Amino acid sequence: MKPAASVHPIARLPEEWRDALTSRGERAFAAKQIFGWIHRHGVVDPAAMTNVSARLRASLAEEGLGSIAEIVHVHRSADGTRKLVVRLKDGATIETVLLPAVSGPGARSEPDIDADAAVADDEEEEDDAAAEEAFRGKIRVTQCISTQVGCAMGCVFCASGVAGWKRHLGPEEIVAQVLLGRALLDEGEALRNVVFMGMGEPLHNYDGTARALRLLTHPDGIALSTRRVTVSTSGLVPEIERLGRDFNGQIALAISLHAADDESRSALMPINKKYPIAELLAALKAYPMQRRRRITIEYTLVSGKNDDVAEAKKLARLLRGVPVKINLIPMNPIEASTLGPPEMARVFAFQKALVDAGYSCFIRRRRGDDVSAACGQLVLLGAKPKVKGFRKSAS
Ligand code: SAH
Ligand code: SF4
Repeated sequence: MKPAASVHPIARLPEEWRDALTSRGERAFAAKQIFGWIHRHGVVDPAAMTNVSARLRASLAEEGLGSIAEIVHVHRSADGTRKLVVRLKDGATIETVLLPAVSGPGARSEPDIDADAAVADDEEEEDDAAAEEAFRGKIRVTQCISTQVGCAMGCVFCASGVAGWKRHLGPEEIVAQVLLGRALLDEGEALRNVVFMGMGEPLHNYDGTARALRLLTHPDGIALSTRRVTVSTSGLVPEIERLGRDFNGQIALAISLHAADDESRSALMPINKKYPIAELLAALKAYPMQRRRRITIEYTLVSGKNDDVAEAKKLARLLRGVPVKINLIPMNPIEASTLGPPEMARVFAFQKALVDAGYSCFIRRRRGDDVSAACGQLVLLGAKPKVKGFRKSAS
């Protein structure tokens, strides 16, 4: 991790706040207060930190603590999904999506389709009683966050990949998405899961992602349960190993596999030429998994490229012995490509082959499609929003 001195104040951990404060002659106990203001209450303006001394408030403002991101549009989909377009200090825009759990009559009208966006639904019962109690009667929200402006990985079916890489997000910018998103929750909603599945490759921005993970799960802050945070990756093998080591396997992993052999995977995802399937699988097998947990395999079905039942059978053989559940995502069309999803009959046939082979396999429902918040569509509206939302300045 970077030395604390080069870290934005919003991205400081409590112990770093203590060091920063004592080194300038302030008392250490303010560390917890300031960290709590930022991460528990979402307040980043020192002027509003009422239990902090005036002198310290002034010095916090001087060192740059304050708003670093603002919501410029909120696109609300008919299914309750909300896409937030967030503008950063340098003018770059990124997107983050709030996905309320779908419940009530009709939510599972398509029985084979996973009602939740990307979440390990089968692990619901594993939370401890206290954690459960906090969410009783609440609508559980999953937030999908971005880690980069654009993406360098160049996957051919993905709008972020086609757009190319602009820069990494700082950990403060990654966390700011959650602070802004949490402030926008509706009455009765509670933030339960965070998935690193927005724009960018989280493990390409390893330092930013790792620090954001520590901040999001810190008990004095947003306090997400580590099992409720999922990092999705296109398969950067050394960083998967590093994540496993640094977090002792606590962070849930989702792997974008999308093919069962190197030839078809390399055609869809150039990163496969650097880290082919055998190396990726070895890293998954070595990931220090927590007991009873599983790695999520994401498989975007692209018509004519990876959607044949023969591929599903190959996939079943490939994943034998690895604790996984498989999410099938019919490709969401993107402007920059003529590729598209298969017919639903093919999607169901693909699923059946995997279920018959003994895997848990869900088809991910397209959420927020009408506001381009669905997977892989996250850069489409950034520059030319369809629906005007409202402005809100925070973190
Ligand atoms: N870079 C990371 C996380 C962000 S992408 C990764 O690739 O895992 C999140 C998921 O959306 C990935 O599984 C990705 O393959 C999928 N995705 C990207 N574009 C898509 C599209 N057009 N349709 C469906 N899924 C897509
Ligand atoms: Fe990047 Fe993930 Fe899109 Fe591939 S799918 S280009 S890794 S964001």
